[in-house]
Amino acid sequence: MIVRGGNLVTPTGIVRGDLAIDDGKISAIAPELPGHPDEIDARGLTVLPGLIDVHVHLNEPGRTEWEGAATGSSALAAGGGTTFFDMPLNSSPCTVGAAEFDLKRAALGKSSVTDFALWGGIVPGNRESLAELADRGVIGFKAFMADSGLPEFPRSDDQTLYEGMCEAARLGLPVAVHAENNDLVRPPATGAGVHDYLKSRPVLAEVEAIERAALLAREAGARLHIVHISSGRGVRAALEARARGTDISIETCAHYLYFTEDDMVRIGPVAKCAPPLRSAAERDELWDSVLGGVVDIVGSDHSPAPLAMKQDPNFFRVWGGIAGVQSTLAVLLEQAGVERIAELTAANPARRFEIANKGRLAVGFDADFTLIDLAASYTVTPESLFQRHGLSPYLGSTFRGVVRRTVVRGETVFADGRIVREGGGRMIEHAPARIHA
Ligand SMILES: [Zn+2]
Repeated sequence: MIVRGGNLVTPTGIVRGDLAIDDGKISAIAPELPGHPDEIDARGLTVLPGLIDVHVHLNEPGRTEWEGAATGSSALAAGGGTTFFDMPLNSSPCTVGAAEFDLKRAALGKSSVTDFALWGGIVPGNRESLAELADRGVIGFKAFMADSGLPEFPRSDDQTLYEGMCEAARLGLPVAVHAENNDLVRPPATGAGVHDYLKSRPVLAEVEAIERAALLAREAGARLHIVHISSGRGVRAALEARARGTDISIETCAHYLYFTEDDMVRIGPVAKCAPPLRSAAERDELWDSVLGGVVDIVGSDHSPAPLAMKQDPNFFRVWGGIAGVQSTLAVLLEQAGVERIAELTAANPARRFEIANKGRLAVGFDADFTLIDLAASYTVTPESLFQRHGLSPYLGSTFRGVVRRTVVRGETVFADGRIVREGGGRMIEHAPARIHA
């Protein structure tokens, strides 16, 4: 197959040219390749490496009424994504041991239209299971420093976290943490509104947890990934830790770049997340870090729930989680250039998590890419979303850049506004030897 005449976002710059695909891999990139019966016309379109979303909760198996891999991966593909890393919760069971891993791998292998990798979980009492999870091919381990909201995935106390980090280091895998200090995010004795919620989760809780996790990771010799940093101060704390010698990577999510705490007040429960949305000043500093090269990765933290779980009059009891897997690229296009977006959403995730042959448009790499019409724009409606429930804080937002087609290992998954295949996604594994070779 030939992709003809697109603006190809390659590691060495944007080049106008053709891309050939053979057996699911990119076999040639050149200004003008010979004609072929199977061609995709990409003239006028930008060809971007497919997004690798390192942070989603598709909740399969066990909570597919919240989302599911078929719908969640379809939404990812409609937003230009070709691979996701599924968090160890909120599936049921959570991915904290080999048997749970096998269940999830089988379920996602059947229903996902994109490729995927699995995070394993660190919880009190499962240290013995981390080695078997590594053997199964987890991409890394995730721990919560604050209450996760799910009783079967308890938070890690410092000893659990430190010992988990030591084991992860031995196994050669990174540890991702939800960084909020549990004692600094207690709900108030009275008050259950959105303003009370915002006040209950201060930036300080994030900064303290990042600093503590960084110290523990440095002592353990572990690679640390901070998920969903919500504030400019949080990013600065991670950078200071890096300067002191922690191997740390910085992730933020699209909603922290697009919304502020005023939007959480305006939109209500559909915009509830933890850490919460922040002030405009924090949001602007976060953008500077994204554009300036400091933030490594932007993910979605897609964490949907049915409407009923978003309707509690007590804001603290509303399920937290923003369903945005389809909107990451759209948000980034608001301010970032496509070369920077390719780093944040494809090259850096592949490098940091040691995924071989994905994350860039280069010969020998998987033919994972998306075709974007930067001249077109669209408005988000419930009908335009491929996720299970049409709940999204982005409803009504207008974005520039329409995804025309998404291709996974040479096969079109999404085209002309429709998902065009069922299943077909493969699990990818951590592959350090091939990366370092
Ligand atoms: Zn999450």
